[in-house]
Amino acid sequence: MKKISIVVPCYNEEKALPLFYEELLKHMNNFDNIDFEIIFVDDGSKDNTINVINDLHSKDDRVKYVSFSRNFGKESAIYAGFEHASGDYIVLMDSDLQDPPALLLDMYKSVTEEGYDAVGTRRVNRKGEPVIRSLFARLFYKLINKLSPIQMVDGARDFIFIKKEVKDAILSLKEYNRYSKGLFSFVGFKVKWLEYENIQRVAGETKWSFWKLTKYAMEGITAFSTTPLIISSIIGLVFCIASFLLILLIIFKTIILGDPTSGWPSLVCIIFMVSGIQLFSLGIIGQYLSKTYLEVKNRPIYIVKETNIDK
Ligand code: UDP
Ligand code: MG
Repeated sequence: MKKISIVVPCYNEEKALPLFYEELLKHMNNFDNIDFEIIFVDDGSKDNTINVINDLHSKDDRVKYVSFSRNFGKESAIYAGFEHASGDYIVLMDSDLQDPPALLLDMYKSVTEEGYDAVGTRRVNRKGEPVIRSLFARLFYKLINKLSPIQMVDGARDFIFIKKEVKDAILSLKEYNRYSKGLFSFVGFKVKWLEYENIQRVAGETKWSFWKLTKYAMEGITAFSTTPLIISSIIGLVFCIASFLLILLIIFKTIILGDPTSGWPSLVCIIFMVSGIQLFSLGIIGQYLSKTYLEVKNRPIYIVKETNIDK
């Protein structure tokens, strides 16, 4: 019998988990002849999440868990979940029911009957989200798709149904700075996209502040594009050429027209602008350097405190 592993990252989800479990089970009952396991990855929750998971496990031994020693972030939770998943098919979904389990059967059929290797989902709107947040999200996708050779799907969610082969491919990318949406595009395969309207979370609160999202966006850009480095080199070149021309102009004016030197305000402005651009470029280089620094340290992506899965 084939098996589906459902990987669910959870961080402070004590309220959402019981609702999630019930709803998921309802839909898993629609499957014939298939075995499944639910792998909750407790990402160092500070609330009762782990006890809630243990309660579920005592009632249902298909419920498994991996618990981290501290909060490592959703990306690490995804990686750990994939590493511990033993199914022929893997599902990744959030624990707040923003990813409707009702789609699972369709996703399964797309993979088993229509010949797809993976099914991704995207939300077609961002109803219920702060306007500013949606606006920046749109801008981010425009920007990253201009900068990166790997195309990211706007509104793509971390709700995917994949074959084991796709999971293994994602796991073979062992980078420390992980941007899953990009990694999923990077590995390729034949992907079907399903669309749905945005759904609000059932309980609890979002873990993503605006600042966290901004950092995540930078992560995405530096992980999948080196174009910012090229842009800063081009700006540098343009400024070199411009300053060279200006020097010629000043020499010409002084020698031929005998113009006295004047205008320190303009000089100050130029110094400000040029040093600003220099710092900006240095910042871009710094971003890449810091990522490289973290990569070469080769630290583990997550640390397990306890688990009931033996790999
Ligand atoms: N999550 C996690 N670690 C974190 C932050 C979030 O495992 O550090 C999980 C969280 O429990 C949820 C999923 O990632 O299952 C998505 O988080 P959330 O719903 O807060 O994000 P949003 O849907 O608002 O973008
Ligand atoms: Mg959510």
